[in-house]
Amino acid sequence: MTNKYDVLVSEVGPRDGLQSINTVFSTKGKMQWIKREAEAGVAKIQVGSFVPPKLLPQLADTADVVNQSIQIHGLNVAALVPNLKGAENGMAAGTHQIGVVMSVSEAHNQANVRCSTQQSIDQFAKIIAFRNAHLEYKDIVISGGMATAFGCTISGKVPICDVLRVAEGLLKRGAQRLNVADTVGYADPKQVRNLFTELYRAIGDDIPVSAHFHDTRGLGLANVFAALDAGVREFEACLGGLGGCPYAPGASGNIVTEDLVFMLEAMGLSTGVNLDGLLETREIMERHLNGEPTHGTFAKAGRPKGFVIKPAIF
Ligand SMILES: [Zn+2]
Repeated sequence: MTNKYDVLVSEVGPRDGLQSINTVFSTKGKMQWIKREAEAGVAKIQVGSFVPPKLLPQLADTADVVNQSIQIHGLNVAALVPNLKGAENGMAAGTHQIGVVMSVSEAHNQANVRCSTQQSIDQFAKIIAFRNAHLEYKDIVISGGMATAFGCTISGKVPICDVLRVAEGLLKRGAQRLNVADTVGYADPKQVRNLFTELYRAIGDDIPVSAHFHDTRGLGLANVFAALDAGVREFEACLGGLGGCPYAPGASGNIVTEDLVFMLEAMGLSTGVNLDGLLETREIMERHLNGEPTHGTFAKAGRPKGFVIKPAIF
């Protein structure tokens, strides 16, 4: 899948979006969504999270969804795991990329998983060791995710040096890639450019880094622009901005996949994604939603005059 795009747009709706809404999609409904979006040229989709079903019934069928998604030609299938048990399940299901997330903010990590960030980094090392001990899992990529990297609802500001410390800790323990997330929508473009510039300075250019922005305060795509400027070439987004923001009812949450693709393509950056195909996928998704709201402006406004929509790459 390499070299078909300048920027990789990574869909996280089937995990991030679905875990934040009431509707529980059937496995069949999820697969209709995932298949159509892959056909539209989205090369990487985070299809679920290996958490206990009681905790998130919306994602209880993740193993099944992974099993079916890895049959889709050319699709990179990603999932999140909260701990070693989840990682074992994720690897057994055949997930291509396992994401392990921790909060850079100590207070947020304690509130979320009741342990320190350092303890989460140690847990990460155990996941790497488990993967390395199983030859059949050698091709599974493990990503270190840093939540609340731009601010935290409990402790407010999160210093860049804390992000760098966690990033270096993860890389030292074998992370093959990093994800930096503005979990609560606190980031501004200047901060984003500073953080990624410092991060690349600290870790070099060889480790792939993806960014995860929220549009809670309307700065999502401005933050993408700033991150692009600093060198980031992979962005996570949710089709239709699914999920909204749990802290601000009615506000959008994750940046919107189709708006992101439109912005990148309008700037002349190839994504390999077909916008008409994305809009069709959005309709498929909405049919399963029981009226829960979606977000995004491209779906409402359509393409500007003279704007050429790229054909799908498949
Ligand atoms: Zn998110």
